[in-house]
Amino acid sequence: STFQELGLNEDLLNAITDMGFITPSDVQQQAIPLLLNEERDLVALAQTGTGKTAAFGFPMLQKIDVDSRTTQGLILSPTRELCLQITNELKQYGKYCNGLNVVAIYGGASITDQAKQVKRGAQIVVATPGRMKDMISRKMVDISKIQYSVLDEADEMLNMGFYEDITDILSHTPDDKSTWLFSATMPREVASIAKKFMYDPFEITV
Ligand code: AMP
Repeated sequence: STFQELGLNEDLLNAITDMGFITPSDVQQQAIPLLLNEERDLVALAQTGTGKTAAFGFPMLQKIDVDSRTTQGLILSPTRELCLQITNELKQYGKYCNGLNVVAIYGGASITDQAKQVKRGAQIVVATPGRMKDMISRKMVDISKIQYSVLDEADEMLNMGFYEDITDILSHTPDDKSTWLFSATMPREVASIAKKFMYDPFEITV
C-alpha cells in the first residue's frame, strides 16, 4: 500500500515525499490505520530499524491539535540518544504542521532550559523517564491533558530500572488517554506494564 492509502493528511504526505519515503514499512502499514481510526491502546512487537518511530509519530502528529499549546502527546524512551533521535524525526515529519512544537527532555542537560522550552507550549514531549519524573515533581511540565502516550523500547526501559519512574509518570496522565507500547521483546515485566496500564490493546508483531 501507499502512505496516501493509510489515511495520512497532506502536511504529513508532503513531508514524507521530502524525506524520500516511498513505501510504508510493515509496522507502519499495520499500525497507522489502526491508530488513526480508533482511540485504542496498542502493543507492538517491533525492533529498531523497522520504522516504528513513524508508525507512532505520524498518527500522533495527525491527531494532536497544533493550534493548542497544551501538551497532548508524551513519548518515553530509554536513552538521551533515542530521545533526541525521536525528537528530530518528529520535527522532520511535522515540518508542515504549522505551530507544532516538539521538545526533548533528558538528563545531563540544563533542566531550566528544557523547562523554558516546555513553557513556550509543546504539544509533544519526548522524554527519558528519570528527567521526566523530576520535571513533573518540580511542576515544570503538565501532563494532565495527555491524550497519547508512547512507551518506546519498553523492554530496554524496564531493563534499565525505569519501572517505578514509568508508573509514577503515567499516574499523572488521564485514564482516558491512549497508550502505544513498542518493544523488541515481551518479557514478563513488559507484559505486566501492558496489563497494568492498557485496556484491550491491539496487538501487532512485525
Ligand atoms: P526507526 O525504526 O523508527 O528507528 O527507523 C529507522 C530509519 O528508517 C529511520 O532513519 C527512518 O527515517 C527510516 N524510515 C522510516 N520509515 C521509512 C519508510 N517507510 N521508508 C524509508 N525509510 C523509512
